[in-house]
Amino acid sequence: MITEAPAFKISPVKESRVGQLDPDKIVFGTLFTDHMLVADCVNGEWQTPEILPYGSIAYDPAIASLHYGQSIFEGMKAFKNVDGDVVMFRPEENFKRFNISAERMCMPSVPEEIFLGGLRELLNLDRNWVPDGDDNSLYLRPFMFASDVYLGVRPSLNYRFMIIMSPAGQYYAEPPKVKVETEFIRAAEGGVGYAKCAGNYAASLYPAKLAQEQGYTQLLWTDAKTHSRFEESGTMNVFFVKDGKILTPKTSSTILKGITRDSLLQIAKSLDIEVSEQDVYVKDIIDGIASGSVSEVFGAGTAVVVSPFSAVGFEGNDYVLPEITESSVSSKLKNALNDIRKGKTEDRFGWVYKV
Ligand SMILES: *Cc1c(COP(=O)(O)O)cnc(C)c1O
Repeated sequence: MITEAPAFKISPVKESRVGQLDPDKIVFGTLFTDHMLVADCVNGEWQTPEILPYGSIAYDPAIASLHYGQSIFEGMKAFKNVDGDVVMFRPEENFKRFNISAERMCMPSVPEEIFLGGLRELLNLDRNWVPDGDDNSLYLRPFMFASDVYLGVRPSLNYRFMIIMSPAGQYYAEPPKVKVETEFIRAAEGGVGYAKCAGNYAASLYPAKLAQEQGYTQLLWTDAKTHSRFEESGTMNVFFVKDGKILTPKTSSTILKGITRDSLLQIAKSLDIEVSEQDVYVKDIIDGIASGSVSEVFGAGTAVVVSPFSAVGFEGNDYVLPEITESSVSSKLKNALNDIRKGKTEDRFGWVYKV
């Protein structure tokens, strides 16, 4: 589990800005807590992590990450449970995945004491920033970037790991309408689709922008070779309900291994809902929505939890999905997951980590 933190150097703020937080008016990713964590890795040696007042950092314009994109991140959440405790959800999984991303990007592993210990220290200091409210949470953003001042293309020798935290509310106000992408790709075999590296998100902006101009909120990505199989949706894993059974693409080098995805699959099994990790073909799903055998399509990820789609656009036609009700599979999964995180039901899976 989580071991003791190394000696963090802590410089607390003189006065908290938490008064700026209005739990009813949270705009995702715009307000940051009082403190941030900074840890530098110099020639392979991790230096003492520091916790400082949140603020700008100055860098030389030649740092490698700005030019060649050696940069990775994680996205996770802390919650206030029904007893008022601050809890994190499966933080070890984010820690492991972060270091998998690091390896693919030739970056150093971050020690557990810095990643998990750092989150714990920060959350302790900034616990008043974890907002009340059923749909609210504190979004945690660990990230690392190459900091060598050097314009040659090679793995950097120096890196900076940081954690910042930002209050989060509900993500999408309306169920998104999504477009099946059959021209652009997110990931190809042998590439970096399974890593949470910054460049993946930069590359997805243009196809997403084109889809938005056509009236869609988000994309459904298909495989790079044939565009016949679903992979993900935007920055979420994707689920389908066909004849009452849950289908989701199995993870591969082109699919980010979502922690929400894994949690929902385990919850579904515990609720005796049949699940299958398999190839999911665009044609079968489109035909299924048209005939009524496919009743739900939804995305799953930390930011959204579960996001049911209202319609799937394919080759110029919109295939409208039935409205979601409390008895929909996505509602059952979402409620079960939220209840575990909020401490409303027993944490049978051992997912909740109290800070
Ligand atoms: C982060 C992310 C997900 C969701 O992962 P979670 O661990 O559930 O938050 C899915 N796909 C992509 C591309 C992602 O970046």
